[in-house]
Amino acid sequence: MTINDINNQNLLKAAGFVGGEWVQADDGGTLTVDNPATGGIIARVPAMGEAEARRAIMAAESAWPSWRAKTVKERAAVLMAWHQLLLENEEDLARLMTLEQGKPLVESRGEVRYGASFAQWFAEEARRDGGDIVPAPRTNTQIRVTREAAGVAAMITPWNFPIAMLTRKAAPALAAGCTAVIKPASQTPLCAIAVTALAQQAGVPAGVINLVLGSGTVIGSELCANPAVRVLSFTGSTEVGRILAAQCAPTIKKLALELGGNAPFIVFDDADVPRAVQQAMLSKFRNAGQTCVCANRIYVQNGVYDEFMALFKERIMALKVGNGMDDGVTIGPLIDGAAANKAAQHVDDCVQKGAKVLCGGNALGGNFYAPTLLSDVCDDVLPCCEETFAPVAPVFRFTDENEVIKRANDTIYGLSAYLCTRDLGRAMRVSEALEAGIIGVNEGIISSEEAPFGGIKQSGMGREGGTYGMEEYTEIKYTLLGF
Ligand code: NAP
Repeated sequence: MTINDINNQNLLKAAGFVGGEWVQADDGGTLTVDNPATGGIIARVPAMGEAEARRAIMAAESAWPSWRAKTVKERAAVLMAWHQLLLENEEDLARLMTLEQGKPLVESRGEVRYGASFAQWFAEEARRDGGDIVPAPRTNTQIRVTREAAGVAAMITPWNFPIAMLTRKAAPALAAGCTAVIKPASQTPLCAIAVTALAQQAGVPAGVINLVLGSGTVIGSELCANPAVRVLSFTGSTEVGRILAAQCAPTIKKLALELGGNAPFIVFDDADVPRAVQQAMLSKFRNAGQTCVCANRIYVQNGVYDEFMALFKERIMALKVGNGMDDGVTIGPLIDGAAANKAAQHVDDCVQKGAKVLCGGNALGGNFYAPTLLSDVCDDVLPCCEETFAPVAPVFRFTDENEVIKRANDTIYGLSAYLCTRDLGRAMRVSEALEAGIIGVNEGIISSEEAPFGGIKQSGMGREGGTYGMEEYTEIKYTLLGF
């Protein structure tokens, strides 16, 4: 399967999109897009810079007044058309995603549907956001509270969910009446181009969506420094999130930061063990372990440890590693060689500190790493302080509830946390005690368009999805009416 197998060639632009025009880099520079499964070059896209980013911001600024002035119903209709086109192009988008990102085709199809769902959800949400009338402190006055579009919103997205992370930002922004300048990850620009082409086809007016391709460092500094940008929404690593927060400080932008995680996954003695294993598989191995909400540290209580490990090992050994385009493959390549090296480094560190390798534990050549199960891992290992972002499952033993809560919370991250138990009291108690923005109780897949997604501590600020996701793109206005 190559890029020539994409049916809708309209999705393949090899260009950025500024002010309604498909454009190249000013200096003609390009960046290559690789297939992580084969190492082959798939495409070349423009490597744009600060000047192009500035023009995109200007285009978004000029388009804002007329987009904001449309009725919510008109904006929602455009988003609904976008939603429909995303679904109609599911197979092509999924193929593009597997080609440039590596995840198994079945997962790519799922991401296209998940990504499309945000366009539908926010089209619906926008129409219900009518504001509030608050009881006033004096007679003959009224307090009116409304939400208004914040303005030009800049969006920087990662490679691990190249469509969903883009639509989860752009859909609420457009629904709210903002205009967007999007900078996708350099490793996965093709999905962003395709999704933008479909937005254009759906009737998004010129300048309302702009796409700038190229180095995050170069384009990011313009997006952060430019005073016309009122919102910066970023999904990516905590390390880059810190840089962006500092760069946005001089112009006091509204910031939404969806950053890294280091999720604990806790299995208590009273859990339904087969279900816990099934949910751990989903949480740990989806996208080859490259999700921000991945179980990074799995804690299993002594009483069910052996039973859990036996079943978990059986399921891990049944995973099929290979090119995500091939039938039956459940684990694709990692995004690049550095990611495969990081997996090896984490495994080596655990083993040196006493962990046993129950399966995997080796590189498979190229960007592939074997799904790995490690038992009896101690707390002083790399997966306890860094995201592993690979198909590596380190499992820790624990004895009691208070102890495991303390260990689970012993991290700078606070994105997601999971627990498996059949005791309702424990489920409530532990959910409250865990320091994370998202909790899965007996559930390993927690993302949906209906739910607010986001973290606490150094996993970020703000929420995406749900009824809360549009707040990042609106400002509250209070009007006191005297009569
Ligand atoms: P990354 O290295 O932080 O890059 C993310 C994006 O930021 C890319 O578009 C990148 O552009 C850009 N970037 C890099 N350095 C920049 C800088 N100095 N200034 C401005 N932009 C810059 O993260 P990643 O490796 O792509 O993604 C994996 C990370 O994302 C993980 O930590 C994961 O947990 C996190 N993530 C979080 C969520 C969430 O919702 N919380 C969801 C998905 C992923 P280039 O590609 O051009 O470098």
